[in-house]
Amino acid sequence: MIPFVDLKAQYASIKDEVNAAIQHVLDTCQFTLGSEVAAFEQEFASYCNAQFGIGVNTGTSALHMALLAAGVGPGDEVITVPFTFVATVASIYYTGATPVLVDIDPKTFTIDVNAIEAAITERTKAILPVHLYGQPADMDPILEIAKRHNLVVIEDAAQAHGAEYKGKRVGGLGDMGCFSFYPGKNLGAYGEGGMVVTNNSEYTRTIRMLRDWGAEKKYHHVLKGYNFRLEGIQGAVLRVKLKYLEKWTEARRTAAASYNELLADSGVPTPAEMDYSRHVYHVYAIRTKNRSKWQDELNAKGIQSGIHYPIPVHLLPAYSDLGYKAGDFPNAESAANEVLSLPMFPELTRAQCEEVCEAIAILAKNVVIN
Ligand SMILES: *Cc1c(COP(=O)(O)O)cnc(C)c1O
Repeated sequence: MIPFVDLKAQYASIKDEVNAAIQHVLDTCQFTLGSEVAAFEQEFASYCNAQFGIGVNTGTSALHMALLAAGVGPGDEVITVPFTFVATVASIYYTGATPVLVDIDPKTFTIDVNAIEAAITERTKAILPVHLYGQPADMDPILEIAKRHNLVVIEDAAQAHGAEYKGKRVGGLGDMGCFSFYPGKNLGAYGEGGMVVTNNSEYTRTIRMLRDWGAEKKYHHVLKGYNFRLEGIQGAVLRVKLKYLEKWTEARRTAAASYNELLADSGVPTPAEMDYSRHVYHVYAIRTKNRSKWQDELNAKGIQSGIHYPIPVHLLPAYSDLGYKAGDFPNAESAANEVLSLPMFPELTRAQCEEVCEAIAILAKNVVIN
């Protein structure tokens, strides 16, 4: 069996170190925030080439807090994409603002920078590009448009720890960058976690308060805040895992290169890595018009796969109130119909990549014969 992700293999490789880190938190009883979280905030921010990091309970909260710190609220509009995990759009709703969607570029699966300006109104406050699958959105044009229209740029980097745009790590490119440490992400906690990174000390101060009941100091609540604190155990585990992130990212890139090479003659569209980017392959998605059949056949051979994501946000029942309809975002809709994510995790072996690609080559050939 080839799993889609293999968290057990990774834990086995760092078990003693992780167990000791957790034991340390148990011994010190710093169960929420505390010194391990503070150290991790510093280490992860500096990994992103950002000055400040604010640890929160989830990636969703990171987005929500970043939007609030930017002053986004009722009556405002935030521009993002329909082809993303639902949390991106949900976080905009949480602030009372209205998500305004623009289509993706079919090659990168990230925001179509040529479609942004037409979506800007006098209510637009922010642009929220998503570095989907681990490939950065085309940030220079986004930052240029934002500057011209006086908009805040918040990166959804939940899938892109360590990804680079023109040699610079994501997260520190816009005004704020938001990360998720959900266990399956490239840097995953042993529970939930998230972080906002930024170079702005005002945003930092606001988010530090918002995540802990809006308190300036204990019981002095100057903002209506939340309980969005990052747990001590997660901080300790993430500190251990951060040391291996570059090695794991290189292993993902090696697996992706194997897939690219082994599928080169199959006629199957493989992911493009843009010249500007270091793709970190949170997801390696091919495209096929026969997806459900391919998925069944792969399953029959013991090869797991995934779909990220089968329904674009504008066509989800929960977001019908946005008022969009089928056909509004053709690139997002065709991607949602065709993408198929292959097994991807740092411990994936060359032999496993070969097994996956042999199975896909057979499926691709059958399509031609049919
Ligand atoms: C995972 C994810 C989130 C949300 O992160 P959580 O930690 O699960 O709350 C937001 N945006 C994208 C693109 C994600 O993949």
